[in-house]
Formats: sequence, structure tokens, C-alpha cells
Amino acid sequence: MTIKPNILLVYTGGTIGMVKDYKTNALKAFDFSQILDKIPEIQQLNCSLESISFDEPIDSSNMNTNYYVKIAEIIEHNYTKFDGFVILTGSDTMSYISSAISFMLENLRKPIIFTGSQLPIGDLRTDAKENLITSLEIACANKNNQPVVKEVCLYFEYKLYRANRTTKVNAEQFEAFTSMNYPALAESGVHLNFNEHFLFNHSKKLEKLIVRKNLVTDIVILKLFPGITENIVKSILQSKNLKGVVLETYGSGNAPNEIWFLNLLKQAIQKNIRIVNITQCLGGSVMQGHYETSLEMKEIGVISGKDITTESAVAKLMYLLSENLSSKDFKYYFEKSLRGEIS
Ligand code: ASP
Repeated sequence: MTIKPNILLVYTGGTIGMVKDYKTNALKAFDFSQILDKIPEIQQLNCSLESISFDEPIDSSNMNTNYYVKIAEIIEHNYTKFDGFVILTGSDTMSYISSAISFMLENLRKPIIFTGSQLPIGDLRTDAKENLITSLEIACANKNNQPVVKEVCLYFEYKLYRANRTTKVNAEQFEAFTSMNYPALAESGVHLNFNEHFLFNHSKKLEKLIVRKNLVTDIVILKLFPGITENIVKSILQSKNLKGVVLETYGSGNAPNEIWFLNLLKQAIQKNIRIVNITQCLGGSVMQGHYETSLEMKEIGVISGKDITTESAVAKLMYLLSENLSSKDFKYYFEKSLRGEIS
């Protein structure tokens, strides 16, 4: 790494770069070139900074996998030139986007830090400055000529998280994200303290970055609730082209053990639809077989998502479905940690 790290700042959209439309009073994205004018302090950082923006910045509610590929390609094309990347997106789907990017980039050895803000950068009380400046500092951090962080992270309100462990939990407070099943990788206080022990540990072998751009989107999140009907579950599981289901169950992976429900799951699995069991709880893990109400799911071939988040399960499903794996291999890879997303 060079003495002064080269960092690429990528603006895709989101509140951080939005202004109020004076007619409708709604927030909309504005020209990114103004973003750096709003934070002249950035010049004081010990890094060389370049920036790039989506031609048409988006609210992250409009995110889709074509944009994921666009972000991944920006990183791919600039991977050798830069030492680290800070990606600005809206916070609404930031956990989905950053989880997906973590699966799309294999053998990553550089920091990719996602951040954004709850208030626009021009707002007096904005959280954008701290989030952006500290994210840049994290992307610059190096030890023994190596970047400290070599994975996809999300930084928000004084905490750095592994991106594929995060969930947006608050639309009001600045502390918008949590990572219930994995500790923060760094905390920003008087000092920027890295919990080095929890950072992703790569094998010593230096392999080339591989960018996975095929994602299968024929999937669904099916969240159970007491009273869900056979008709509804049937119409979802029998949807045309359905390839994968993130089944959000209760507690440690429990679901009704009624015959109609199990039969519908069984029929879907027989049609090669991959069904992944994850919990609706924010913390803790699926343990299929722990209760009678999850035992049969295990027996008919429902895959355990263990302690993965919904966002990460969606991303992992999109990625693994594109690999055309046998059902045995699919289960093996889904239940195994590929990017630190499962404990
Ligand atoms: N709606 C915005 C977005 O996700 C919210 C934000 O930026 O935090 O793009």
C-alpha cells in the first residue's frame, strides 16, 4: 500500500446527498459534485480521494440487482488503482445491498465501507459528516503496509459492522443499524478502536479477486404469522419460476407442523425450490430439530439459515442459485460461512 492511501468514494444516492424539493417538500437526490463542497474537512484526511457518482443517483428503495452489478463493476474496474472504497447508498436497503456485494466479491483483500446518513449532508444537525469522515478513515487504516479491513463493512453512528450481519432497525434515530449476532468490528470514540480479533481472517494464499455478477432473483421472503392460510402459502410456493424461499419462522426456526404446511414445503422442495429457514428474531439462531415444530422441516430437506440475517439470506440465495449446485451442495454451501455471514 502507498503511504497515502488512494480511496475511491462512490455515490449511488440516498439521503446523504439529497435536498428538499421546495415545491413538494419531498427529499430527492442532487448532483454529487456538491457533496465534497459540503465537507471541506475531508481535505485534511491523509488520503488521496477520488469520487464517482451514478449518473442518476437513486433512493435506495429503487435498488435492484442491476445496480448491485454496477457497484461491483465500479469496484472491479478500480480494484488495483485504489486501496479502499467508500460506497454511499441510502440506508433503507443498505444491508441488502452491502450483503449482496459481500457475496459478489470473492477473495476481497481491500476495505469496502458502506455508509450514508439519516439527515442530508447540508442539514445543520446532519449525521452525514461523521459517518463519511470516519468511513474514509477506516478505509485508509493500515498496519504493516496492509489494510486493516479486508471485507465489506457498514459504518453508521460510531460503529463499524460486518455488512452481511447488519439490519436497519430504526428510521428515526441516528443509530439506525444493528448487528445482533456478531460484534462491531470497530468503534469510534476518542480513538478509532478496531476489534481486530473479529475482522475477517483470510487464508494466507493471495488469490485474485473474483466478481460474481449472476444473481437469481426468482425468490421470495415468506414471513409466517399465526393464522397464515393454506391458500396464501400455496399460491406463493406454486408461483411460476420460483427458485428459492427465505422462510422466516418463529424463535429457533419453528413453524406450524400441520400436514398442509409441511406438504406444501415438501412439494416445493421436490420441484428443486430451495427453502431456507431463518428466524424472525433479530438475535439468535435456527436450530432445526430442537423442537418438534422444526423437526420435520429438517427431515424433508429445509435448509438451516442458522443465525444469518434476512438481508444476507436473500443475497446468499441469489448468489448460490446462480451457481447451479446440486441440492446436496446447495445445502452444504448455504449452511457454511462463506463471507463471515454465519457463526
Ligand atoms: N430513503 C433513503 C434511501 O434509502 C433513506 C436514506 O438514505 O437513509 O435512499
